Amino acid sequence: MKTLEEYLTLAAEAHGHMCPGQVLGVRMAMLGLKALGIDDPAKHRKRLMTFVEIDRCASDAVALVTGCRLGKRSLKFFDYGKVAATFADLESGNAVRVAARDDSRDKARSMFPELGDPSRQQLAAYKAMDDAELFTLHRVRVNVSPQDLPGRPRSRVTCDQCGEGINDGRERLVNGRILCRPCADESYYESVE
Ligand SMILES: [Zn+2]
Ligand SMILES: [Zn+2]
Repeated sequence: MKTLEEYLTLAAEAHGHMCPGQVLGVRMAMLGLKALGIDDPAKHRKRLMTFVEIDRCASDAVALVTGCRLGKRSLKFFDYGKVAATFADLESGNAVRVAARDDSRDKARSMFPELGDPSRQQLAAYKAMDDAELFTLHRVRVNVSPQDLPGRPRSRVTCDQCGEGINDGRERLVNGRILCRPCADESYYESVE
């Protein structure tokens, strides 16, 4: 594994700026990997699956350290609005969930009052605090179904309504018709044509 500073440099580059979220995300991932006994994530790409719980800064850093990616199906996003991530070793079945502690923000303020600005306080404090001050860590079990795993698509069907292809069992069966989720009224968009 690289050092915190090495990962932070890479994370800031990939993310576009340095921010408290990069520190949290990098440290969160390093801690999770350590707990799983995975020293070099680059060597264990096939074993590792990461579940992030927020679409904000920290998740970019988590993805950078783990090497897990959406396009490789090794990065999953659950929209919980929490600075937290679960790291799963698909080989051993072990998994740990690491969550940022809410009281770390207050602690950052009291550690570096002279810095004034919360973002600068957090940036400095999140580098200096112990893992236990910053995070909670719990062993968890994650059930990954075969149709969520990396590799070739497990199935592919065509939507009876729009004609678009659907991979990996995401279709719905409605009144005997195979429908994609948008056509089954589960869409995030509306047609404006
Ligand atoms: Zn950021
Ligand atoms: Zn459809």
